[in-house]
Amino acid sequence: MNRYAVATDSYFDGERHRCDGPYTVVVENGRIAEIADGDIRAELGDEFSLREGAFLMPGLVEAHCHLFLDGGQLDVGVRSKYLNSSEAEMLSVARANIAANLAAGVTLAMDAGDRYGINHLIRRESKLVTVRSPGLALRRPGRYGGFMAREVADRQEIAAAIQEIGDAADDLKVIQTGIIDFEAGTVKGEPQFEVEELRYIVRLARERGLRAFVHCSGVAGIESAVAAGVDSIEHGFFMTRDALKAMADQGISWVPTFSPVHFQWLRPEIAGWDQQTVAKLRRILEAHEEQVALAAQLGVDLIAGSDAGSHGVPHGESLLAELDFLRQAGLSLEAVLRSATSLPRRRWRAEPAGLAPGLKADFIALAGSPFDDPRHLRRVTAVFRE
Ligand SMILES: [Zn+2]
Repeated sequence: MNRYAVATDSYFDGERHRCDGPYTVVVENGRIAEIADGDIRAELGDEFSLREGAFLMPGLVEAHCHLFLDGGQLDVGVRSKYLNSSEAEMLSVARANIAANLAAGVTLAMDAGDRYGINHLIRRESKLVTVRSPGLALRRPGRYGGFMAREVADRQEIAAAIQEIGDAADDLKVIQTGIIDFEAGTVKGEPQFEVEELRYIVRLARERGLRAFVHCSGVAGIESAVAAGVDSIEHGFFMTRDALKAMADQGISWVPTFSPVHFQWLRPEIAGWDQQTVAKLRRILEAHEEQVALAAQLGVDLIAGSDAGSHGVPHGESLLAELDFLRQAGLSLEAVLRSATSLPRRRWRAEPAGLAPGLKADFIALAGSPFDDPRHLRRVTAVFRE
């Protein structure tokens, strides 16, 4: 398919909804040559293959996932045994996860850390879904993150780790806090790195051309990450207005990953949560939703990432659920679509994938416009890439 033309009624170009169709997107040699007003397919030469899609938009970006983990596996025992499986077994899980992402319209998946190196391996073989991989994340010895991070105790070890990780990584992942203690409704323990240390990590990462995305939740962790000037806050439960203001000023993005906490609330019987904990989970999710709404008002770049691979967070469909959560928080559909298309690509300096002349063809067709009915986001009918 060297030359093709796709007629559509309306599209989202990566920033804006275009709804004065019909339009024809003309692709030559893998690039968008033209987006014409009207259905001009009849005027094109017969070297063009002709297609159509009710609605077009750039391929989705899943900005936070763990490709070696099957989030749909709910059995905790099976999940922990899985961590001893062979590389071949893990790779086949990663392949299935890539297929699930593609079926959901994802064409760029950003892995968020994996101690087994499956993220780098799958990046090499995945074609229709581009993978960005950080390889190993960084963590403090003995602290949270064993399944995805390498331990660094001091500046010397930090420098050595970034030197080595940087050879193959696209971005640098840092673990700054543990996960939420759902029974207590807080994040326990001090942040893993001091502000000065984290700032040092960010500086070394930049020197290697890497951006730093940082796992943190809880006020202390978030404040330290913001003070250190990281590129992106991942999760960010217990967010505050002050942190959001600073993030807007400094251009720090936020990937709020509702999905893993939402699963704990939705299926408390699986983790064995009692009613009190379920009530705490509800409050955490409601507060998170309020902070996301505030972030949008303050102009913080919100980016969609589901943490797929986590318990109860299957790849592909969970990104679409994440878009629902952002919408429920009050974001406009345009803002929601930007969070999963142009914003993450800009944040991570990935190749742009908008619908505009000159850009590489990297777009999807849906069965109908999500502006008519958001459920159309779950009906991908075609993926157009080179
Ligand atoms: Zn994660």
